[in-house]
Amino acid sequence: MSSMCDCTRCPLCGELMWNGQCENLDCKYHWYPKDDDDEGEDYQGYIII
Ligand SMILES: [Zn+2]
Repeated sequence: MSSMCDCTRCPLCGELMWNGQCENLDCKYHWYPKDDDDEGEDYQGYIII
Protein backbone atom coordinates (compact mmCIF):
# COMPACT_ATOMS: atom_id res chain seq x y z
CA MET A 1 0.00 0.00 0.00
CA SER A 2 2.92 2.32 -0.60
CA SER A 3 1.15 4.17 -3.41
CA MET A 4 -1.52 5.59 -1.09
CA CYS A 5 0.67 8.48 0.00
CA ASP A 6 2.19 10.52 -2.76
CA CYS A 7 3.59 13.30 -0.64
CA THR A 8 6.77 15.12 -1.55
CA ARG A 9 8.46 18.41 -0.76
CA CYS A 10 7.64 21.42 -2.88
CA PRO A 11 10.74 22.57 -4.75
CA LEU A 12 9.57 26.18 -4.55
CA CYS A 13 8.62 26.74 -0.92
CA GLY A 14 9.52 23.51 0.87
CA GLU A 15 6.00 22.73 2.05
CA LEU A 16 4.44 19.31 1.62
CA MET A 17 2.96 18.42 -1.73
CA TRP A 18 0.21 15.91 -2.28
CA ASN A 19 -0.09 14.46 -5.75
CA GLY A 20 1.89 17.41 -7.05
CA GLN A 21 -0.25 20.01 -5.28
CA CYS A 22 1.48 22.20 -2.72
CA GLU A 23 -0.22 22.80 0.63
CA ASN A 24 0.98 26.39 0.71
CA LEU A 25 -1.81 28.69 -0.46
CA ASP A 26 0.73 31.29 -1.51
CA CYS A 27 2.61 28.87 -3.68
CA LYS A 28 2.17 28.57 -7.41
CA TYR A 29 1.96 24.80 -7.18
CA HIS A 30 -1.11 25.02 -4.95
CA TRP A 31 -3.10 26.45 -7.85
CA TYR A 32 -1.11 24.88 -10.65
CA PRO A 33 -0.06 21.46 -9.39
CA LYS A 34 3.05 19.94 -10.78
CA ASP A 35 2.11 17.40 -13.36
CA ASP A 36 5.23 15.38 -13.87
CA ASP A 37 5.55 11.94 -12.39
CA ASP A 38 9.28 11.56 -12.41
CA GLU A 39 9.12 9.93 -9.00
CA GLY A 40 6.10 7.81 -9.84
CA GLU A 41 7.65 4.42 -9.49
CA ASP A 42 4.39 2.78 -8.54
CA TYR A 43 2.00 4.65 -10.77
CA GLN A 44 0.51 1.66 -12.56
CA GLY A 45 -3.23 2.09 -12.85
CA TYR A 46 -3.10 5.51 -11.24
CA ILE A 47 -5.62 7.87 -12.79
CA ILE A 48 -4.36 11.39 -13.35
CA ILE A 49 -6.86 13.95 -14.54
ZN1 LIG B 1 4.99 25.21 -2.68
